[in-house]
Amino acid sequence: MSTIEAREQMVEVHLARRGIRDPRLLQAFREVPREMFVRPALAEYAYEDAPLPIEEGQTISQPYVVAAMVAALDLRGSERVLEVGTGSGYAAAILSLLASEVITIERHAALADRARELLSRLGRTNVTVLVGDGTLGARTHGPYDAIVVAAAGPHVPEALLDQLGPGARIVVPVGATLEDQSLVRLTREGSSFRSDSLGGVRFVPWIGEQPDRTRVVPAGAESAVRALVRESAEPIASIDDDTLEPLLDRIGDARLVMLGGATCGSSEHQRMRTRITRALIERRSFDFVATDADWTEARRFDDRAMGHDGPRQTPPTRLPLWMWRNEETVALIEWLRARNLALDDPSRRARWYGLDRYCTFASVATMLDQIDAVDASVGHAARARYGLLTPWQRDPAAYDRAALGERYAREEHAIVATLCESLRLLSGADEDAIDASTLASAEHYYRAVYRGCAASWNLRGAQMFTTLEKLLEHHGPSSRAVVWLDGAQVGDARATELHARGAQSVGELARARYDRAAYLVGFGTDHGAVLAASEWDAPAERMSLRSGRAASYERLFHECGPSAFLLHLREPRRRAIRDELAVPRLQRAIGPVYRSDCERQSHYFQSVLPMQFDEYVWIDETRAITPLGA
Ligand code: SAM
Repeated sequence: MSTIEAREQMVEVHLARRGIRDPRLLQAFREVPREMFVRPALAEYAYEDAPLPIEEGQTISQPYVVAAMVAALDLRGSERVLEVGTGSGYAAAILSLLASEVITIERHAALADRARELLSRLGRTNVTVLVGDGTLGARTHGPYDAIVVAAAGPHVPEALLDQLGPGARIVVPVGATLEDQSLVRLTREGSSFRSDSLGGVRFVPWIGEQPDRTRVVPAGAESAVRALVRESAEPIASIDDDTLEPLLDRIGDARLVMLGGATCGSSEHQRMRTRITRALIERRSFDFVATDADWTEARRFDDRAMGHDGPRQTPPTRLPLWMWRNEETVALIEWLRARNLALDDPSRRARWYGLDRYCTFASVATMLDQIDAVDASVGHAARARYGLLTPWQRDPAAYDRAALGERYAREEHAIVATLCESLRLLSGADEDAIDASTLASAEHYYRAVYRGCAASWNLRGAQMFTTLEKLLEHHGPSSRAVVWLDGAQVGDARATELHARGAQSVGELARARYDRAAYLVGFGTDHGAVLAASEWDAPAERMSLRSGRAASYERLFHECGPSAFLLHLREPRRRAIRDELAVPRLQRAIGPVYRSDCERQSHYFQSVLPMQFDEYVWIDETRAITPLGA
């Protein structure tokens, strides 16, 4: 994709689709080349909707956040604007296309010099870059019609308020901690200010002189929501013994029940999924379980469940085996086997499938082996990149490590060719494992995974959904499936910030295709332990799970009290529960990798739970799953 196409895509996907409407503003984003404002080694990421590191330990802001802040200034073209925190100069360049004059202040002289040079190269003659403490404003150039502050503090700096002209507005991130920031707009009305809150954000802190006088504290009395949750929740007394009849009734004649764990290494989530799955097979005649495991790995389980003996001759896969080879999953396979063998009619045996025909996890392991053999430092870049297979994950170090790009790019061709070849060999060994269309698109897919493209998650999801549809077709028009994926894939991504980043989930595809016949169940947990790896390909270990963050669904449900419950969200008896929970909150997702050191960036995303799921399973405290042989 060319730079111009990437920029256009950013404007469409990350700005327009996310509610930025002003055509002048969108045009400004089309005109400013963001790649010039990021480090050359990071140019390939310039049009992702992400902040990126710049010199002096600072960041260039995320495009959507710049757009939302500038939109809140409501510029008409004739204004004099002050920006505090020039950083790279990118936002100043955008502002210069929308206002008549821009004054921008940066406390790091080196950043100011670089921004001045870039703005001049772009011919932006209406921008003045100053060096200094922006919390004091730039009185000699004021008063201003609009002020935007690109760094956060615990209050709105008083000096900036003084420099606002009549009717002028200031947009500023306010919050005592990084987790607690919200974007605030104050508009001068005579001698006072009207205040609007524009939602949660995360900015680097400003460092300045201003005393704390105009504190803005985000409000949030939660007790009414907690009371509603308590009233609507159906307690789970025992994972193994509850009848689950009310849940089965709600599922009704749905053709697909999708169960999404919030962490893939939590024992209670696996056991609860198992419990629901058994009930669906036993009492509602579901035909098969489809998981996000590699196809070949799942075949071994299916053989066992179907009563075949002797290991299947498929190449062994490696990472992360514990996700499937654990006591909790094996208990379900053994139950399936006993149940299947006791049936008089073999055609009624329930099957176990893996939906990932590209064998992504095994392929990533192969990629890492090959890259490590070439250069272990390049392997670091790769491990950071594969975080993009879990799109909520933002490893702060990933962009720095990705700077090892050149060496990495040179290996691409050979490694992708090896993976395509192994897939071709697999298709020969196991003719119904890999079909022609999977083979045909394999190269495209492996390239996306190798490069760590944001598109790789969508490609994997779309491919798993196609396989699921084929399985349903294979099992006949009245067949029914239980689907086990991670929570982000099960939930409807349109109800999360992942949608704005262009992600599309399997749950969303299922709703589009099956409407109410797809029943999406999410899972959540607050604290305890989890089995996970510290990075791709590292050995899994038992890690303690931090308690849910402020402003998250996890924190809310934890504070509700009951230790385990089901929460019906599709058509709850009390409709108010949907409305109250529809205020966006953070939600945690943990895949095979858990990074508790940067948990907020790596594992939390904004979501609207009652739009994302039809039902939610809450288990307050969980233990780590037990890998086989442990
Ligand atoms: N708008 C910038 C862009 O488009 O690249 C991003 C700004 S970055 C998130 C915040 C910047 O604010 C940093 O460059 C930091 O050095 C600067 N900063 C922090 N405190 C400041 C202060 N008191 N005065 C001026 N600049 C400050």
